[in-house]
Amino acid sequence: MAFWFNSDRERGRIFSEAFARDLPDLPFITDLTQVDPDDVRYVLTWTLPPDLDRFKNLEIVFSIGAGVDQFRIETLPTEVKLVRMVEDGIVRMMQEYVTLAVLSLHRNLKAYLAQQSEGRWQALPARQAADRRTGVLGLGMLGQAVIERLTPFGFPLSGWSRSPRQIDGVRCHYGAESLPSFLGETDILVCLLPLTGETRGILDARLFAALSPGASLVHVGRGAQLDHDALIDALDRHQLSGAVIDVTEPEPLPPEHPFWRHPKIMLTPHIASVTQPDTAARAVIENVKRHRAGLDPIGLVDRSRGY
Ligand code: NAP
Repeated sequence: MAFWFNSDRERGRIFSEAFARDLPDLPFITDLTQVDPDDVRYVLTWTLPPDLDRFKNLEIVFSIGAGVDQFRIETLPTEVKLVRMVEDGIVRMMQEYVTLAVLSLHRNLKAYLAQQSEGRWQALPARQAADRRTGVLGLGMLGQAVIERLTPFGFPLSGWSRSPRQIDGVRCHYGAESLPSFLGETDILVCLLPLTGETRGILDARLFAALSPGASLVHVGRGAQLDHDALIDALDRHQLSGAVIDVTEPEPLPPEHPFWRHPKIMLTPHIASVTQPDTAARAVIENVKRHRAGLDPIGLVDRSRGY
């Protein structure tokens, strides 16, 4: 029985130490020449290796990231479980990033930076947090964590998910029919949806038109959820007032792409949240132990939903 770690060397060193300490009976392999493929029961990877079918006894594929849209789930044998990364480091970093983005939009940071570069000292109209309705698309692990971190600022909070959710102090909506009413009462929209057939291209002209006039966007889901032309158009027509974009399609954006220099867009290179090796190793080890005890791993992907 063996665990094959198919990721970078530095993370591998930290994982290997944690496995030696906490799961000493499970060989931890980074070099496949050292193992009989029949012994490989677990793989941790970012994408599926093309020759995965040679691991005849594979039981779990662990994603090194929080999303699993980079996998073609249908190519994975049905008896193999797919598990996304659920670990504290990812959660904390996403809480920081979304708080930074929401406050930046709320307090006109981009406009003040532009004024500074022009040597202009001028106050812009300000709104109270209580008048800035903030809505989160996706009420999963990250959506809920972000809401918890935003709560003390006093923004009226709402959220949208696929199935009904109940969160104290949050107006929860669910299902496609409720999307327009959710958007109509949203001034800052945060996208934390997984990329699936249903959410691909969801941030489009129709969605922007349904938002409260002058709303802004924080996009930290996946690049393919956003229609770039529709966003530029909505910003240039003052339908939207600003956007903080962390994920794009493609990544990186080509040098001539309008997002780089748009005066209402703050762009970061997919860094909102990154798997932290210490906490991730603990989470994966815990999941191997759960699996061995006959329990479902935390973060088990539901193939029918695609997340
Ligand atoms: P999660 O726990 O699986 O939660 C997903 C949420 O989205 C759930 O609330 C789900 O609804 C909702 N949802 C999915 N499909 C929907 C649909 N068609 N309509 C309405 N709601 C839908 O995922 P997570 O851990 O919070 O992560 C969310 C995503 O964040 C990841 O998939 C990844 O793409 C992205 N991410 C980005 C970064 C970055 O650095 N930018 C880092 C980590 C993750 P239900 O509650 O009904 O299931």
